[in-house]
Amino acid sequence: MTVEPREHTRSYYAATVNEVTDQPVLEGGHRADVCVVGAGFTGIATALTLAERGYSVAVVEANRIGWGASGRNGGQLINGISGLDRIERQHGPGVADMLWDIRWRGHEIIHERVDKYGIACDLKSGYVETALKPRQLAEIEDFATERERRGFPYAYEIWDRNKTRDRLGTDAYLGAFACFRDGHLHPLNLCIGEARAAQGLGAKLFERSPVTGIEHGARPKVRTAAGSVEADAVVLAGNAYSRLEPKRLSNLVFPAGSYIIATEPLSEEAINEINPLDVAVCDLNEIVDYYRLSADRRLLYGGACNYSGREPADIKAYILPRMHQIYPQLKGARIDFQWGGKIGIVLNRVPALGRINNNVYYCQGYSGHGVSGTHVMGEILADAITGTLEQFDLFAGMKHFRIPGTQWMGNQIIALGMLYYRLKDRL
Ligand SMILES: Cc1cc2nc3c(=O)[nH]c(=O)nc-3n(C[C@H](O)[C@H](O)[C@H](O)COP(=O)(O)OP(=O)(O)OC[C@H]3O[C@@H](n4cnc5c(N)ncnc54)[C@H](O)[C@@H]3O)c2cc1C
Repeated sequence: MTVEPREHTRSYYAATVNEVTDQPVLEGGHRADVCVVGAGFTGIATALTLAERGYSVAVVEANRIGWGASGRNGGQLINGISGLDRIERQHGPGVADMLWDIRWRGHEIIHERVDKYGIACDLKSGYVETALKPRQLAEIEDFATERERRGFPYAYEIWDRNKTRDRLGTDAYLGAFACFRDGHLHPLNLCIGEARAAQGLGAKLFERSPVTGIEHGARPKVRTAAGSVEADAVVLAGNAYSRLEPKRLSNLVFPAGSYIIATEPLSEEAINEINPLDVAVCDLNEIVDYYRLSADRRLLYGGACNYSGREPADIKAYILPRMHQIYPQLKGARIDFQWGGKIGIVLNRVPALGRINNNVYYCQGYSGHGVSGTHVMGEILADAITGTLEQFDLFAGMKHFRIPGTQWMGNQIIALGMLYYRLKDRL
């Protein structure tokens, strides 16, 4: 089945992008040290790390750079990669320090690149996790204890109910945890900025070039309708949008929809009431609501993961009541944008990292925690390709369960599982 290349979804991000990319379509035969399939954060972060190390890289994207989840997400720079606790359980406490470093490494890479390459992506500091239930207050205490034990060098605070109300302009929460190493950013501008940086170091970028298959061998070949790239190694970075290598990868990652609305720019008075510190916010439920302000003072409010594989007919009607529940004072605010994207969910929540035939690498399934996580995994992939396997082996050694049957069936099973979490959130 041929899928026609598509333009960006009509998001706030696509409407405020620094640069509209227009890279060539892949035509004819090319060669590179490494060919990356997919130009989201996983693909671009890997490509940039390799280009910085002097490797020749070709990135082949089906649509546009940042077209997938990377150009559509909540822009919340959250610490950690989902499932790290499971890795520690499987590999033992000896890896705890390494996992703690991995938790923050993505932030470091992003900050370094924003500075080094001058990427304008509205990077801000401050991320607040809010408690809706008394049991979530205990989680907040744990966040602080862990940081204290490890001598965390960045600011963090526990907010009681009153402080939370003062700082977030809502009485919805019982308390909150604020971490100022985390933060938020314009993800599409970051992704395009990093792609440009890779290109500046010699990487070749191709857009509107869906990869149709991989020919395996000592030098695998990536094929599109009009061209090919032969390389020493291939990186598959299509995440929830990829259908490549079904024998190894189908039913490993399940696409779940997440949706965002953006208000009109809010008045200074409204901003001072709902978010004077300009922090990103996410609740501590299993199925989260998340929101933040854009650089032009819109509220970008997202949530409501949909695991059934069906898009809601009207995203605004789906998300707006959730926003009004937290901010009834914004009932009059106009909604200017609404969009959605696919999150890659993995059953055990650990990103599925591995390789096929020793030279076709893949990493997918960040379970909604990918802005920072993709950057760490990009580095781990680049390390593996250049011969350092320690962290690669840690992730590749994790057992992943593939649901038998079709992708549709898998999604129904995941949807059922999520009902459990939805119920848990109500308790
Ligand atoms: C609505 C939403 C909100 C989110 N909010 C947050 C958040 O606030 N914080 C956070 O940390 N994470 C968030 N996430 C998750 C985060 O965006 C992802 O984990 C991350 O962007 C994944 O990056 P990726 O590069 O692996 O995949 P993607 O960005 O999806 O990129 C995959 C790319 O591969 C391309 N591709 C697929 N198949 C082919 C092929 N055959 N040939 C060529 N190219 C191909 C696609 O076109 C796409 O551009 C959110 C996700 C969504 C959808």
